Amino acid sequence: MKQQKARKHRLSTKDQMTETDTQPPADAAARRAVQPVICYPTQTLPQPDLVLYKGARATATKVGETVVPPRQAQCFDVSAGQFFRISCPEGSQVGDFNLHSAHDPAEHFFSGKSRALHGAHLSTGDRLWSRLPALRPLATIVADTLDWYGIDAFGGGVHDVIGTRCDPYTHALLSGGDQYHHCCHSNLTRSLAERLGLSRAAAEPLVHDVLNVFMCTGFTRDTGQYFMKASPARQGDYLEFFAEVDVIGNLSACPGGDCGAIHSSDVAQCHPLLVEFFAPAPGSLDSWQPPAVNAYDGSHGP
Ligand SMILES: [Zn+2]
Repeated sequence: MKQQKARKHRLSTKDQMTETDTQPPADAAARRAVQPVICYPTQTLPQPDLVLYKGARATATKVGETVVPPRQAQCFDVSAGQFFRISCPEGSQVGDFNLHSAHDPAEHFFSGKSRALHGAHLSTGDRLWSRLPALRPLATIVADTLDWYGIDAFGGGVHDVIGTRCDPYTHALLSGGDQYHHCCHSNLTRSLAERLGLSRAAAEPLVHDVLNVFMCTGFTRDTGQYFMKASPARQGDYLEFFAEVDVIGNLSACPGGDCGAIHSSDVAQCHPLLVEFFAPAPGSLDSWQPPAVNAYDGSHGP
C-alpha cells in the first residue's frame, strides 16, 4: 500500500497534493516559498588559470590518440600538464568517463562532490575533483563545443555528473534477471583490470560514478525523475581537459549510443569515441604547479 502511494506520489504535482499521507500545514505555501541558498558558494574555491592553460594549449602539439570502439571501454594515460580531448569522430555518442590518479588509482574522480561544487552539468572552467581525503582537481575542462547548449526547456543539460553509469546489476533488477555484459560499468571494469593488471573482481570496486560526456540529462519537473534525451553532440564535437596530475582516464562508449531511447542493450546505434593527446611547448606552464592534496589534517577531532 505504501508503495502504491509512493508511486502515485510521482504521477503529478496534483496527485502529490491529494495522495500523500500527511495533510499540508496551514503555512505550507510560505514554507515552499523560502528562497534557496547555494550550498557551496565558490568565491573561495581555488580557480583554474584558464588564460595560462589556453596559452599553453595554443603551443601544444598532438602526441597521440586512441579510439574507443562502440560498447567497449579503453584506458589511457595522460601526464600532468598535458591536454586530452574526447570527441565524436563519426556521430553522436555518449561516453561514460572515469578518471584516476595514476600514482594511486584509489584516488579517483568524485562525481558527487564535483556536482555539489559546480552543478549538475560540467563545462569549461569546471574541474573533476578527486575523492576524499585528497579532494583536489585531477583535471580541468578547458574547452567544450557544446557550451552553447545551456539548460533546455525540459531542464536538460549536457555532460552531467548526475547519472552513475549504466550497469548490469540495475539492468538485471529491472529486466527480471537479463544478463547484459556491455553496460559501461562492465566495460570500465574490463579495461581498468587490463590497465592495472588486476583481476576483474579486484578492479571493479575502483570503477566509480562517471562524468557522462555528451549525455543530455536532467530531472523531470513534475515527478523529479532522472531523464535522458538524444545528445545534441554531432560529429566533431569535443570536450577537452587539462591534466592537473598524472592521470589514468577510462572511457566507455555507452551502449546507449546518443542515449535518445534506450541503454543497456545492443539496440541503439553506437559510434566510437576518439581521445587525442596534446603536449604544450616547454616553458609554457612555468608558473603552474600541480595541486596539492587537501589541507584538512584528517584527525576528525580529539
Ligand atoms: Zn553507459
